[in-house]
Parts: sequence; C-alpha cells; structure tokens
Amino acid sequence: MAERIKHLVEIAKEARIPKKRAGYIEIAEFQKSDLTKGYFCKACVYFLDVQGGKCAIVKSQGEDCNGRFSKVIAPFGYCSLWAPNKSMLKK
Ligand code: SF4
Repeated sequence: MAERIKHLVEIAKEARIPKKRAGYIEIAEFQKSDLTKGYFCKACVYFLDVQGGKCAIVKSQGEDCNGRFSKVIAPFGYCSLWAPNKSMLKK
C-alpha cells in the first residue's frame, strides 16, 4: 500500500505544469513585501509552505519566464494560475 501511494505521489509530481508554461515569475524587489496582499504565491490556494516553497500544480524545478532557474516556488513568486487563498484575506 505504501509503495502504491509513493507511486501515485510521483505521478502527481510529474503531472505538474512547467514554470514557463504557467507564466511563473519572481521579482526579487517583492521579497520583503506583505505577501498576504496582492497576487503572490504565498496568498495562493495552491501554495505549499514546505521545503522553501512548493506548488500543488506548478513544478518547483526549472526555468521561469525571466530565464531564471530555481528549485522552489517562492512565496513572492506569481503565475497566471493564481487563485486566492481565502483564509489569508483580510477585511
Ligand atoms: S501563483 Fe501559481 S505558482 Fe504560485 S502557488 Fe499559485 S499556482 Fe502555484
């Protein structure tokens, strides 16, 4: 059973969308911004705050739209698949 789950996790990882195709970018100037406001990965429902940052649907590894390579989805990143994490919205 554990092997099956491991296999399914690997399939799910491979099925993720490459950064470039998702329109993913990072702008270093936003690193110290309030990431709960605006269109940042940190405020996206698909962002997973583990091991430096992962996304449930975009691959962590690879080249982004700015030609930059990294192994994480940064909290200050952004892509065209962004969807709001309603638990982070402030009134
Ligand atoms: S904005 Fe895009 S890359 Fe960032 S967490 Fe959301 S879906 Fe993933």
